[in-house]
Amino acid sequence: MDQFASAPGGIEELLSRLLERQRAAFMAAPRPTARERAEHLQRLETAVKKNQDAIANALGTDFGNRARPETVLAEILPTIAACGFARKHLAGWMRPQRRAVGLNFKPAVNRVEYTPKGVVGVVAPWNYPIYLTLGPLVDILAAGNRCMIKPSELTPATSALLAKLLGDIFPPEQVAVVQGDVAVGRAFCALKFDHLLYTGSTHVGREVMRAAAENLVPVTLELGGKSPVIVAEDYDVGKAAKSVAVGKFFNAGQTCVSPDYALVTGGRAEKFAHSVLAAAEAMYPKLDGNPDYTAVISDRHHARLTGLVAEAEAAGATILRHRDKPTGNTRHFPPTVVLNPPLDGKLMQDEIFGPILPVVRTENLDAALDFVNTRPRPLALYAYTNDSATERKILDQTISGGVTVNSTMLHVAQDDMPFGGIGPSGIGAYHGHEGFLEFSHTRSLHKPRFFTAIEILKPPYATRMRLALKMLAGFELK
Ligand code: NAD
Repeated sequence: MDQFASAPGGIEELLSRLLERQRAAFMAAPRPTARERAEHLQRLETAVKKNQDAIANALGTDFGNRARPETVLAEILPTIAACGFARKHLAGWMRPQRRAVGLNFKPAVNRVEYTPKGVVGVVAPWNYPIYLTLGPLVDILAAGNRCMIKPSELTPATSALLAKLLGDIFPPEQVAVVQGDVAVGRAFCALKFDHLLYTGSTHVGREVMRAAAENLVPVTLELGGKSPVIVAEDYDVGKAAKSVAVGKFFNAGQTCVSPDYALVTGGRAEKFAHSVLAAAEAMYPKLDGNPDYTAVISDRHHARLTGLVAEAEAAGATILRHRDKPTGNTRHFPPTVVLNPPLDGKLMQDEIFGPILPVVRTENLDAALDFVNTRPRPLALYAYTNDSATERKILDQTISGGVTVNSTMLHVAQDDMPFGGIGPSGIGAYHGHEGFLEFSHTRSLHKPRFFTAIEILKPPYATRMRLALKMLAGFELK
């Protein structure tokens, strides 16, 4: 539902008024205490717990089929965990820090204080529409801010539920949900927020950053990209394949940190590819009516995935398809492995964001590292090795937002670690303490005691300056 479709004042005016209302409320109470923030987080946690069924049902409606355990594992539990973690550590994170005072400035006090920024905007995608709205909201509230959220138009049932759930527990001048399409998204990103967090594609991320730059609004960009898997020669390919298949087909590959493609060294690529498909067939023996296998979000995305495989097949790649051909829910895309994909085709150029795994044969580890390093810096990297020197080499010779070793995606689920990309896969990070810092302003406070050095160093400079510089810094002014 587009709540602005028939608004008389136009989207821009309505959004500006909402922002002004939140900012006025913020300025009236700009320093929520730790106790108040903890209470806000408790309210959110309780609402998510109470609405588990409603959340799972809304996601089921939006996806056609969203595996319920995936909703619990990747939306409900991490949101609840983030609330609990922030509540526990909040008071410690908020505590001002004393900093050293240089000899020349003594006696004085130096302190940094973590102050709320004000009103933070959140723009979210459709793939995890609860965790990618409420996860940021946890950090934003923990840092004492107010928040306006623009969820994706591709998940209308979940967006409407979010608006209701948050509207029931927060007044609109504290947390507000703005539903609407890309036009609403554009107007939203042009607002003079105190900070803007955008999660979505790298392509749109550029547009969002341009809009924010117009008002010098600081941004956190959580973007996408192609996250590689490197299977080193010492690691059992069958074991790696089973592990990669779990990550790849979770949410039907519609995960920002999904393993996008695999680099298999030592000529074991073929065995790896067949083992990934076998693992998929074991996890999802049939596709039609299988509640465990999540559907693709829209017909457009389904057609896009079909096109990626067709292009690779036409270029001579070997396509390994799941034995079951879905006929019921037409948006179930079969798990597919593509061996020896053309490197200049769309499959290896664009982020896949679906249940297709290209497997690229590489000569050795150095060739795999070159492959990764000659492409845009990825959001995640997955290294399969039991050899500590090989692990160190992969870590030292690659750059990515995060890493999981001998598994996939799990680094994102750690409450006490930052989550974010680097360069084209993202700017800034959130989750846990880093999330609190991202949405706080680190303010420096200097308070001289008894006298101020600068007051001695005032004009007329000649004699006084010479004397003071000699005394304080041992510096001879010429
Ligand atoms: P998208 O960029 O199309 O849309 C995301 C949001 O931006 C939606 O709410 C949409 O309405 C809004 N939007 C679209 N165009 C806009 C514009 N020009 N100006 C302002 N807002 C606009 O992304 P998507 O298809 O919903 O999500 C998929 C992408 O998101 C993938 O690339 C994936 O990797 C990435 N992603 C990243 C993370 C992360 O945390 N790094 C998490 C999930 C998804």
